[in-house]
Amino acid sequence: MARTCSVCGVRKAVVYQPHTGRSLCRECFLEDVKQRVKREVERWGMIRPGDRILLGLSGGKDSYVMLDILAEMHDPSKLVGVSIIEGIPGYNREEDIEKIKSHARRLGVDVVITSIREYTGHSLYEIVARSKARGSKQSPCTFCGISRRRILNMYARMYGVDKTATAHNLDDEAQTAVVNMLRGDIVGLLRQHPLSPPVSSEIVPRIKPLRKIYEWETAVYAVQRGYPLQETECMFINRFPTLRARVREELYRLEAERPGTLLRILENLDMLLEEPARRLEREELPKCEKCGEPTSYGRRICKLCEILEEAGVEKPAYTLRRPTLLTRTTRPRF
Ligand code: SF4
Ligand code: ZN
Ligand code: ZN
Repeated sequence: MARTCSVCGVRKAVVYQPHTGRSLCRECFLEDVKQRVKREVERWGMIRPGDRILLGLSGGKDSYVMLDILAEMHDPSKLVGVSIIEGIPGYNREEDIEKIKSHARRLGVDVVITSIREYTGHSLYEIVARSKARGSKQSPCTFCGISRRRILNMYARMYGVDKTATAHNLDDEAQTAVVNMLRGDIVGLLRQHPLSPPVSSEIVPRIKPLRKIYEWETAVYAVQRGYPLQETECMFINRFPTLRARVREELYRLEAERPGTLLRILENLDMLLEEPARRLEREELPKCEKCGEPTSYGRRICKLCEILEEAGVEKPAYTLRRPTLLTRTTRPRF
C-alpha cells in the first residue's frame, strides 16, 4: 500500500528523505526544501532587504532551484543572473542556457550570457588541450572553477551588486570542508563559514543559499517542478583533483551507511567555527602583477594567469561585454 506523507498525513508520499526518516508528498517536500533554504539564509543574514544579488546560473538543476527559491523570497527585480558557457563539447550547451534565461525572465530576473572564451580568448576545451600538449598537470576543474569565479565577480562589480550567489549544495560544501581538513587548510575551512568576512574589497561577498540541501534533493526538486535536467555529464568529471574525488566517494559511502552524515559535518563545523569566523579580520589580498585582480598571499601572479601562461596564452583577452539589463530598464528600482 502506498505510504501517506509524514507531514500532512493526507497526500501520497513520493519522496523518502533518509536523513529525517520521513516520507513526503510532492508539496511537503518542495516546502521543506524552500523552508530549509530560507532558514539558512536568515540564520546567517545572507540577504538583507534591498540587497542586489548576482546569481551564477549554470543551467543545471541546482541553479534552477536557487533561482526558484530566491525569486520567491526576495524581490526579483533585485536579482540578475549570469550564465557562463565553459566551452566543453556536448556539455552546458547554449540551448540549456537559453532555457534557464527564458525561465528566469518569466520570474522577472534578467540573465547575462557570457563564456570563458569571451573572457580569456579561449574555450575551456582549448585551454585543456593546449596545457596537455605542453605537459601541464593542471586539472580542467581548477581552470573551470577559477574562471567562473572570476567572471562572476567581474560582473558583480560591473553591475554594482551587494552579493553573488552560487548554487553550491551540501554535497559540494561537505566535500570542500573535508578536503580543507585533510590538507590542514584551517584558513580555507574558516573562509567557508557563512560569517567569514570578504577577503578583498575587490571581491563581492559570496553567499551559498543551498549549502544545507543535498544534491539528490535539488535533483528531485527540479524533477518535481518540471525543470529540464542536463542529460550529459561534463567530459572532465573524472578529472576532478584526486583527493576531492576520493573524499566524494568516501562521504557517499558514509552517508549511505549513516544518513545525515554530510549534514552533521557542516552543522558541526558551522557551530564550532562560528566564533573564530566572526573574529577573522578582513584581509586585503595582494593584486596580480599581470591582470591586477586579487590573488592569494605569497603569489606574484594569480592562478588564472598562471594556468593560461602554462597553456601558452600570453595575452588573455580579459574583457567582458556589459549588456543592458532588461530589469534595469523596466524596473527602475534595480
Ligand atoms: Fe568544470 Fe570540472 Fe565541473 Fe566539468 S566537471 S564543469 S570541468 S568543474
Ligand atoms: Zn504532505
Ligand atoms: Zn592575474
